[in-house]
Amino acid sequence: MKALRWHGKKDIRCDNHLPDPTIEDGRDAIVKVSSCAICGSDLHLYDGFMPGMKHGDIMGHEFMGEVMEVGKDNKKLKVGDRVVVPFTIVCGDCDQCRKGNFSVCERSNRNKSVADKVFGHSTAGLYGYTHLTGGYAGGQAEYVRVPYADVGPVVIPDGLSDEQVLFLGDILPTGWQAAAQCEIEPSDTVVVWGAGPVGQFCVRSAVLMGARQVVCIDNVPERLSMAQAGGAIPINFDEESVIERLQELTKGKGPEKCIDAVGMEAHASRSLDSMYDRVKQAAMMETDRPHVLREMIYVCRPGGILSIPGVYGGLLDKIPFGAAMNKGLTFRMGQTHVNRWTDDLLERIQEGQIDPSFVITHTVSLEQGPEMYKIFREKQDGCIKVVLKP
Ligand code: NAD
Ligand code: ZN
Ligand code: ZN
Repeated sequence: MKALRWHGKKDIRCDNHLPDPTIEDGRDAIVKVSSCAICGSDLHLYDGFMPGMKHGDIMGHEFMGEVMEVGKDNKKLKVGDRVVVPFTIVCGDCDQCRKGNFSVCERSNRNKSVADKVFGHSTAGLYGYTHLTGGYAGGQAEYVRVPYADVGPVVIPDGLSDEQVLFLGDILPTGWQAAAQCEIEPSDTVVVWGAGPVGQFCVRSAVLMGARQVVCIDNVPERLSMAQAGGAIPINFDEESVIERLQELTKGKGPEKCIDAVGMEAHASRSLDSMYDRVKQAAMMETDRPHVLREMIYVCRPGGILSIPGVYGGLLDKIPFGAAMNKGLTFRMGQTHVNRWTDDLLERIQEGQIDPSFVITHTVSLEQGPEMYKIFREKQDGCIKVVLKP
C-alpha cells in the first residue's frame, strides 16, 4: 500500500509498496481509508519537536473509511461499515475508560514502559504519533489496522458525506471539549488563542455554548476572517496589542475563560536562538510575542479557567506560576477524550446544527501529502485544513 511516512524533521514522503496491515488481535479491524486529514499535531512531528519518532513511521491520526476485515472477537463492526476512527485508541474497560477519561486509557499504549519513564504514567495509544504513545501506524495511508476496534470507531449512518463527519475523530471534539471544560456562563468572555482548525472549532463551540463574547487571536488574516464568520471578534497580534485590546473588551476585568489552541507552535515559529533567549528572560513581556500560556495567565480574570487543547511535548520554561496561583486560576488540559463527545456531536451534525466541513480549504490525493505538509505549515495558499484522498 501507499502511505505518508516520517523520515526526519521536515521530511514526509509518500512511500509505495508498503505491506498492507493485517489483523493482529481478535478485537482489531482493518479500515480502507476514504479520507484523512493533516492536523496541527502532525506539524509538531514534522517540525521535529515531538520526541520518540522513528524513521518510516506512518503519519496521520485523523481518518475514516470502510471496514474491510474484522477480528474474530469483534462483535461491534462488520465488513462494509463506514467508520470514523477517534485518534485516541481506547480499550473501553480500564478504570480510566470507565470514567470517560479515554485519552489516558491504561491499556491501549503498547509502549507503556517508555511512557511510564518519561511521563510518570502511561497515556493512551495514538495513531501516527510518537512511540511514547504506542507508535501505532497512522491513517495517512490506504489501509490502517484499528486496535480495540470494538470500542472506539464511530459507525456513520447513511446520508452524511466524509467531509461532514471526518473531523469527529479529532478536531471537532477537541474544540468542543476545550470549550466545555471552560464551563461557559452567559456573562463570560471566552478568548481563543490560535485560529487554526482547532481554534475554529473552539470558537464555534463557545458561541453555541452561549458565551457573551468570543474573541480569537492569530496573525493569519484568512483564519481570522473564518473565526469572525463563526461569531468571534478577531485580534491580529501583528497589528494590535493583545493585552490592551482584551482589557478594553472586558472593561479592564480580563476574560473569564482562555483557550490555548496553539500549543508548541509558539516555540516552533521562532528560531532556536530566540528560544534560548526566551528561556533567559524571566520577565513576562520582554519578547516580541509572549508565550501563549504566559499571556493567558496574565490576562485571565482571577478565578477564571485556562483550557489547553494545544499540544506540548517536553518542558516549558518560565511560566508565571505565582500569578496563576495567586489569581486562583484553574488549568484544564489534555489530549481529547474523543469518545466522550462523539454521540452528541454526530447527532448535532445529523440535525444540521454543526457542519464541520467549513474548515476544509484543500482536498488532494495522498501523493500530494508531502507538499501539503509544507503548505499547511507555512500557511500558504490560504491553507486552513487539508483533506487527503488515498
Ligand atoms: P495550526 O498549527 O493550524 O494552528 C495554530 C494557529 O496558532 C496558527 O493559525 C498560528 O498562526 C497561531 N499562532 C501561533 N502562535 C500564536 C500566538 N503566539 N498567539 C496566537 N496565535 C498563534 O494547528 P491546529 O490544527 O489548529 O491545532 C492547534 C493545536 O491543537 C496544536 O498544538 C495541536 O497539536 C493541538 N491539538 C490538540 C488536540 C488534543 O487532543 N488536545 C487535538 C488536535 C490538535
Ligand atoms: Zn489531530
Ligand atoms: Zn482503557
